[in-house]
Amino acid sequence: MSNEILVFCEFEGGAPRKTALELLQRAVALGAGPVSALVIGNADSSALGANGAHKVYQVSAPALASYSTGAYTKAFAAALAASGAGTLIASASSIARDALPRLAARLGAGLGVECTELRNAGGRIVGRRPVYAGKALVDVNIQSPVAIFTLRPNSYPVGPAPGGSASVVLVDAGITEADVDVKVVGTLAPDSTAVDLTEAERIVSGGRSLKSKEQFDAVVRPLAAALGATAGASRAAVDAGYAGHGEQVGQTGKVVNPSLYIALGISGAIQHLAGMRTSRVIVAVNKDPEAPIFQFATYGIVGDLFEVAPMLQAELARG
Ligand SMILES: Cc1cc2nc3c(=O)[nH]c(=O)nc-3n(C[C@H](O)[C@H](O)[C@H](O)COP(=O)(O)OP(=O)(O)OC[C@H]3O[C@@H](n4cnc5c(N)ncnc54)[C@H](O)[C@@H]3O)c2cc1C
Repeated sequence: MSNEILVFCEFEGGAPRKTALELLQRAVALGAGPVSALVIGNADSSALGANGAHKVYQVSAPALASYSTGAYTKAFAAALAASGAGTLIASASSIARDALPRLAARLGAGLGVECTELRNAGGRIVGRRPVYAGKALVDVNIQSPVAIFTLRPNSYPVGPAPGGSASVVLVDAGITEADVDVKVVGTLAPDSTAVDLTEAERIVSGGRSLKSKEQFDAVVRPLAAALGATAGASRAAVDAGYAGHGEQVGQTGKVVNPSLYIALGISGAIQHLAGMRTSRVIVAVNKDPEAPIFQFATYGIVGDLFEVAPMLQAELARG
């Protein structure tokens, strides 16, 4: 295996996702070996060269038009073999969560998931990831010839594209309809146009204390909109029907990693913290000064969220 780093780049609406650029730029910054991109599907991959890839391995086939575990695992394996890369990195997306454990098992490769840091330790890539619901961090130093890492979105900033170009290598993975184990019969667009929670730079979340869907919509969502943020919720708020299941943050919801996380009336249960503890700045608004969330908050406001949230919004409106 070579010291080449293969970066799985996901696309949305024909353009690379922000996470793809984050990964490519981080892989280049590691300075551990040449960086190439892996694209599954027939998207135009020309932007990836400008972000640091010297080569793009592209696997396309009609059977890859939508995600399926079997076909994608085969595509990953074929691209890895074609590139000879010793390291594969991907964003901790739903595709990576589903396909990469299967790929790792198939290849006998070590897998470090949900890393929040990747560093170069003498030419080897080492990942750092939270464990025990974020109470501790471990370093993952993979010994197998192929190492696979996933990185939480927003772990590193995305800078301007450094420039450059990549040659495209078309990889024939021999994928047919027989590899498609799950057929996608339709997709539903989310109601909101806000950035997906897992990739959002800013999140405003509300808890049980909102007391109704109407109040959640009247307090949490406008503050989120004013901040250009995505709305999130605790499980208690979701279970009560104030917010959608896709908006739940936590152990059994989404794991988020924004620059700013505002928690409105959320107590800070361990299962909620598991999903947002790595946020760079946490602002907690809670009327109970003993609420556990204050132990993890960068800034804490002891007060009634129904007074504090409109005040924050008014300040934002004043610019
Ligand atoms: C297996 C398992 C998995 C779980 N997974 C998740 C998960 O993924 N995500 C998750 O969030 N939870 C999860 N939970 C539930 C978790 O344990 C908590 O019950 C939940 O997070 C509590 O939500 P909350 O903070 O909104 O509500 P509460 O714990 O009831 O807290 C409400 C808070 O609001 C404050 N408050 C009340 N009124 C106001 C006001 N007017 N202004 C300001 N503050 C106010 C209170 O002081 C309190 O701190 C899970 C639990 C289990 C057992």
